[in-house]
Amino acid sequence: MFRPLAPAALLLALLTGSAAATEAPPGPLCPAPGTAAEKAIAKHVAAAHVAVPPFADLPTAPALAPERRGSIRRVELPAGEKLVALTFDLCETENEVAGYDGEIVDELRRRHVATTFFVGGHWAATHPRRFAELAADPLFEIGNHTWTHANLRTVDDGELARQILAPEAAFRAALAGGPQCPGISPAAAKRSTLFRFPFGACDARSLGAVAGAGMAAIQWDVSTGDPSPLTGAADIVADTLRGVRPGSIVLAHANGRGFHTGAALPRLIDALTARGYRFVTVGELLARGRPVITDTCFDAHPGDTDRHDRWSAGRRPSRPPLPVAAVGLRGADAPPIAPPARRTAEPTP
Ligand SMILES: [Zn+2]
Repeated sequence: MFRPLAPAALLLALLTGSAAATEAPPGPLCPAPGTAAEKAIAKHVAAAHVAVPPFADLPTAPALAPERRGSIRRVELPAGEKLVALTFDLCETENEVAGYDGEIVDELRRRHVATTFFVGGHWAATHPRRFAELAADPLFEIGNHTWTHANLRTVDDGELARQILAPEAAFRAALAGGPQCPGISPAAAKRSTLFRFPFGACDARSLGAVAGAGMAAIQWDVSTGDPSPLTGAADIVADTLRGVRPGSIVLAHANGRGFHTGAALPRLIDALTARGYRFVTVGELLARGRPVITDTCFDAHPGDTDRHDRWSAGRRPSRPPLPVAAVGLRGADAPPIAPPARRTAEPTP
């Protein structure tokens, strides 16, 4: 029932704006639930043609701490701490508008599961409203996933800078334009501190460039294999449970490339919770332990993402990729057991 404010309270509300803050209903579309149509990936459509935002005038980024340089696969936690970081990539290549998998995002919100999204700059440019919603949500954390999902082992120096920095400008533009969610303003946009290499492929040069831009390279120790349509929901749950351990970073997709991820997610959340795990963002996971770092990036075994060089090297004139044969493991990470053959780290665009 509507009750009029007493005159003194009304005056106070007018002065402070508290009436609006307490009585106005939350924005009905902020965040809006996902729709099935949004999950579809559209190739070679006009909406995919977005300009690269200028990135020369970005605010400077604080230097990356030396102990976080390299490829972070998981985090070694104090004994007894059962934390896990679910991560979802929102990749998009230059000729497509990838999807937004609202089934996943809505479930994470419903269950209050802290999550990190690695967002492509191109995806943010074609989904500014969804980007703003994710960035506004204190449950979620945003990391940089390059401009158009390039293989950073095979690009030249100019393209390397563009792939790393253009997303930062795209994120700011997405926050500045279009409908705004409470708490979001472009002035609040900060440089990303987390980065994920597409295809799980990096080398010394690209690792150095990402570190120079102030970002820690966050890869994974558990892949759901969700970009493969052959990986069903039960497979995603079983494979993840088999691979996960305290401090794990789990790779999945929320851009329409996770074929059965949405169906698997409620079961996965239940199963991990039943095993005593608590969900945290990658940032919180890093704050709670010691990152396990390797000198290069890979999916399950050192060198297993090199195959992506074959097609991407032919697309762009660039220097040959650096050899990764001599891989030094600096952390306590042992190469994991070979995954089932159906798994793929990332789809080939
Ligand atoms: Zn990706």
